[in-house]
Amino acid sequence: MSDKYDLVVIGSGPAGYVAAIKAAQMGLKTACVEQWVNDKDTVQLGGTCLNVGCIPSKALLDSSHKFTEVRDGLAVHGITVKKPEFDVATMLARKDKIIAQLTGGIAGLFKHNGVTAIAGKAKVLVGTKVQVTDAKGNVQELQAGNIIIAAGSLPVSIPPAPIDNEYIIDSTGALALTEVPGRLGVIGAGVIGLELGSVWRRLGSEVVMLEALDDFLPMMDMQIAKEAGKIFKKQGLDIRLGARVTKAEVKKGRVVVTYATAEGEHTETFDKLIVAVGRKPNSQGLFASDSGVTLDERGFIYVNDYCETEAPHVYAVGDIVRGPMLAHKGSEEGVMVVERILGEQAQMNYDCIPSVIYTHPEIAAVGRTEQELTADGVEYKIGVFPFAASGRALAANDAEGMVKLIAHAETDRILGCHILGASAADLVQQVVIAMEFGSSAEDLALTVFGHPTLSEAVHEAALAVDGHAIHIANRKKR
Ligand code: NAD
Repeated sequence: MSDKYDLVVIGSGPAGYVAAIKAAQMGLKTACVEQWVNDKDTVQLGGTCLNVGCIPSKALLDSSHKFTEVRDGLAVHGITVKKPEFDVATMLARKDKIIAQLTGGIAGLFKHNGVTAIAGKAKVLVGTKVQVTDAKGNVQELQAGNIIIAAGSLPVSIPPAPIDNEYIIDSTGALALTEVPGRLGVIGAGVIGLELGSVWRRLGSEVVMLEALDDFLPMMDMQIAKEAGKIFKKQGLDIRLGARVTKAEVKKGRVVVTYATAEGEHTETFDKLIVAVGRKPNSQGLFASDSGVTLDERGFIYVNDYCETEAPHVYAVGDIVRGPMLAHKGSEEGVMVVERILGEQAQMNYDCIPSVIYTHPEIAAVGRTEQELTADGVEYKIGVFPFAASGRALAANDAEGMVKLIAHAETDRILGCHILGASAADLVQQVVIAMEFGSSAEDLALTVFGHPTLSEAVHEAALAVDGHAIHIANRKKR
């Protein structure tokens, strides 16, 4: 006899656990299957985000940022500190404590809401059945009314630089280095490369980033990416564009990396090499061949706008389906699916998903970039406000970067916002809300913003769209 559930969720990352909690709140009998088992032999909830992704990386980014503040940022305030020291073990222990607190919190929420956590690897069978095999090889079958697959993603590896978990490491290994590498190589100057490269650079590593593309952060607004690149260079991140790694070999306890650029072949030697070249959907071995679930050509589970797979009552959400690999995108998809299972007409607004790179300053974005609009032939107008003209940013001695707001040339509707600056992640959220409500730049411009705040830069950028900024000289109208 198989156990029966209204909903079986596969995976307990932000896409899966949020869907499971939501479903249980709404009265569905819900189980969440998770294959991750911790050293106490119990199921470890939270997925990549909580265990080896968003949260631990932010913990290390915050610790290392505080260190640079003490080392380099206090003299200007009149505070002198004798040579500060850094203890990596304490930083890692703090990170682990945060992970334990948050993953334990999910276990508590599951209990409170009545979600059954099941340890093991799940496989979707025909007829909305789920087979679960635990670490000891025991197999059980669950009969589900509906299934949500939220099995997430895995780091991509490249043949020239195979991960050995000692010298050549992926993002997981880069969160657990027990000492600061003297020279650190990073393959890929994307989100993970920049965040983890920043952590170790701040703690003293000499960091060289090898990026295959000729453009830096091509998915970001070009103006913001260019400005960010200059700031990161000043911080000592040696970012080499158009650099394709062809070989990485461990020799005498160091990694010798060969890479090619337009100028020819080069070699560099590092103490550690981080491979951060993207992530791929974790869709292998997840379903029986007759399950009805199909994959697209890149291995993502094929779904429609409502996250329905080709198999009835089987849904897929988060990193394992098309769209940006962002925790909050997966969570919202999970909520949408649960609401649709319950008969509501819920849908996602994929045009309004913010994304952030947690460097310092942060880079945050929502909506379209200037280059995308140009390519699509959309007429637009822009308003830019630099933090150097913000009283709050100057008072905080944190005045690098800018807010850039893009609005439609005729309708004035906000099409995008791109922020480089302290607290950009939180600042962009107010534009996300405005966009959700179909706001024009003028609507934002007519809104009262508190003074003195960093948010005033968003207000001024909105004013600048029509040449009405107060605290900068406006561009002459075209
Ligand atoms: P990414 O796509 O952001 O960056 C990977 C980079 O590696 C790209 O610039 C790519 O051109 C480069 N690259 C690929 N192959 C290469 C090669 N052979 N040699 C040199 N460069 C190469 O991917 P990521 O940084 O690994 O992150 C993976 C996913 O996780 C992304 O979708 C990202 O959005 C998500 N993520 C998000 C956050 C956040 O929201 N703050 C943090 C971490 C990761």
